[in-house]
Parts: sequence; C-alpha cells; structure tokens
Amino acid sequence: MSINFRFIGFVALISISFSACAQKSGNNNQTKTTSTAMDTFEIKKTDDEWRKQLSPVQFGILREKGTERPYTGEFDKFYEEGTYYCAACGAELFTSKTKYNSGCGWPAFYEPSVNKNIVEKRDVSHGMVRIEVMCAKCGGHLGHVFEDGPKPTGLRYCINSGALKFEAGKKK
Ligand code: FE
Repeated sequence: MSINFRFIGFVALISISFSACAQKSGNNNQTKTTSTAMDTFEIKKTDDEWRKQLSPVQFGILREKGTERPYTGEFDKFYEEGTYYCAACGAELFTSKTKYNSGCGWPAFYEPSVNKNIVEKRDVSHGMVRIEVMCAKCGGHLGHVFEDGPKPTGLRYCINSGALKFEAGKKK
C-alpha cells in the first residue's frame, strides 16, 4: 500500500510541476515567453474553414499575423465598459478595466483578464525582436506585448482591434 501511495504522490507532484510551468502570469513585470513553440491548439481549423467564418480583415490579422494600420481600428479610441474576446474562437482575453490610451494607435491593455487564454511567443520577424501575443485556444495572432506599459504590470499588450470582439457591460 505504501508503494501505491508513494506512486500517487509522485504522479501528483509531476502534475503540479507541469501545470505550474504551463501557467502564465501577466501580473508582474516579467514578460513570459513559451518555452516551446505551441503549434497545437485546442481549436484547429483549416484556412478554408477560418476564411468562411472570419472577415478578410480578421483573417489577415488572426491567421496571417497581419497588423491593422495604426489609429484605424474600431477599439483604438474606445473606452466603454465591457469584455474583449477572441474574434475567432470567443475566448475571453481582456476587459475594459485594464485598457488605457497608450497613444500608439492600437488598443492597449496592461494585463490579460484570463492569463491561460494568452500565449506569448518570441517573434523575430520584420527585423525586430518582439513578443507575439496569441490566443491560447485557437492560436490566432492578436498583437505584441511590450515592456513600456503603466503600473501595476509595466506591460503594454498592443492588440489589433480586428482580432477582438467586444461585449458591453459588466461580466456576468
Ligand atoms: Fe481564439
């Protein structure tokens, strides 16, 4: 019996270690990056399936890692109370409570509302080293996170309006 208990304890310990590694936090000043490239996501669709579901603008951002032109997105200068979801899969990402005017031309948040729904990944495209922000459920590209945000996190999640869906009102 004691061996069984020891084995169960070992399994529990391993599970805790794994979940601790997988947990992401936007609550401090450290930018978290995934240790391995996440290529598998809970929601998997072909490009054709995404194209049917998304507008060309949404597809260009979410599935092709495009960026909307600055100061053009519908949520850039938009401060209504509510919740922001992934436009592709509906995962909750941000709330208006952490949205602020960064002046950069895109919606900016200092913290995700559901950390586990966000994946951060090193991005060396376009001759820059940046941290890409993706939806953890569907892998959709959302934007980038920079370390020049306001307190309390010091982070600026610079997110394309086209990657978001907004729902007004307080969370149920
Ligand atoms: Fe998503």
